[in-house]
Amino acid sequence: MSTAAANPEAFPLQGLTSDGWSNEEEASATCACGAVQMVIPLKAPGLLNTFVCHCSDCRKVSASMFATNFTSLDTHTRFTRGEDNLTVFSQNKTTATGGTMSNSFCKTCGTLMFRAGSVAPGTKFMRGGIIDDHRLHDTMLRPGVEIFSEHRAGWVKPVDGVEQAKGMGPFSK
Ligand SMILES: [Zn+2]
Ligand SMILES: [Zn+2]
Repeated sequence: MSTAAANPEAFPLQGLTSDGWSNEEEASATCACGAVQMVIPLKAPGLLNTFVCHCSDCRKVSASMFATNFTSLDTHTRFTRGEDNLTVFSQNKTTATGGTMSNSFCKTCGTLMFRAGSVAPGTKFMRGGIIDDHRLHDTMLRPGVEIFSEHRAGWVKPVDGVEQAKGMGPFSK
């Protein structure tokens, strides 16, 4: 297990979190204030996919122009602290399927930790930006596909070598 103190390049100063870690199988994911920390899988079967999403929902809920996400199985994703510090906002207006999408935020600092959809029970759409080990964004958690690429802001360039899908793309089935 590597720690923040041991590797400041992999774990730069980030919010109030200073106990991030990763190993070959799992990594920590922490909100900005540190109250909520989860452990996520870095390999199949727990890790299903990694993707960038340009949909209007991701823009709004992340207050950014796109979201970097990955899907993990609930059975392989756990809390080390702060599950009771989440607040959940759900709505069913913007998903293509009409299903309900629930957004789980840290009640203290507002960091969006994950989303969960009624169309995909047993999984979490995790937010890539909460992973404490920044190296993983270029390795195990590098995006595998970009979806809703037709909604991409004009100044955002496609990720090199990554499939550019319309709508839900490979996840539409
Ligand atoms: Zn927080
Ligand atoms: Zn989206």
